[in-house]
Amino acid sequence: MLTRVMVTAGVLTILLGCSHSDSDSDSGPIPVVATTGMIADAVRNIGGDYVQVETLMGPGVDPHRYTPTPGDLSRLATARLVVYNGLHLEGKMADVLAHGSTRTLAITSQLQPTTDLRSAEADGLTHDPHVWFDVALWSRCVETIRDTLATLDPAHAEDYRTNCARYQRQLAELDAEVRQKVDSIPKPRRILVTSHDAFGYFGRAYGLEVHGLQGVSTAAETPLSEVQELARFLGTRQIPAVFGETSVPPKGLQKVLDTVKAEYNREVQLIGGDQALYSDALGPAGSAGGTYIGMVRHNITIIADALNRP
Ligand SMILES: [Zn+2]
Repeated sequence: MLTRVMVTAGVLTILLGCSHSDSDSDSGPIPVVATTGMIADAVRNIGGDYVQVETLMGPGVDPHRYTPTPGDLSRLATARLVVYNGLHLEGKMADVLAHGSTRTLAITSQLQPTTDLRSAEADGLTHDPHVWFDVALWSRCVETIRDTLATLDPAHAEDYRTNCARYQRQLAELDAEVRQKVDSIPKPRRILVTSHDAFGYFGRAYGLEVHGLQGVSTAAETPLSEVQELARFLGTRQIPAVFGETSVPPKGLQKVLDTVKAEYNREVQLIGGDQALYSDALGPAGSAGGTYIGMVRHNITIIADALNRP
């Protein structure tokens, strides 16, 4: 396995040997590769017609478990900019991202470890990578895209600034909308239980208690003790519903709910199917979760409806 990763990274290095340099003055849009849909959406909003964005991880794809395909490697090699989340979200791509010579940007690189980031030491990571669920924090992250595009393409720097400011105004409105929806949920019911710990920043920013069956990564299997611990929590608290995620199979949460029913004689609803939350991946283009703003809006609507149900 180790050898394969090293070979993969080696291949990429060779492929990237012929990539463009920053001084290329190609006409036509700048080819950009983004790892997740949330990042691709931000690049499109800020880059407008001056960028051509490809997304590596499409709808329903789990970034923690994602391994790059040979097609991805050639896409990465022909890009002028690769934008990724960082903080080990793309755990299995770390070697590939580190070994290339194409310009790369980790969108979380400007955040302060002590004040902005949540620790994830319990999960064997330094920090929790799911920063996009604090909308105000994400709004700061997208400024790195503006600045990098302005460096790559100074002729359009002013457009990137204008587009970024407009996108940030939309994000500020979204942030206020989420706060309003959370306010509609009675305080004792502000508890969000999901398949994995993707919503830590969301809970911190908007005042919900958050529990994930799996830790901040889905890369390892869930031990039975974790299933029992979450079942005990649900069995002893008045929690009406738990939430599936579009990029994580619901079987783990279903096992918890079966245990709650068997051992505590309580029915807890599993919100899944087309109501599942978008956590680590956007939905298909044109769907409710086809954009970052749509994703957050879908999630908070589903969460508020389910937790407000009598
Ligand atoms: Zn995740």
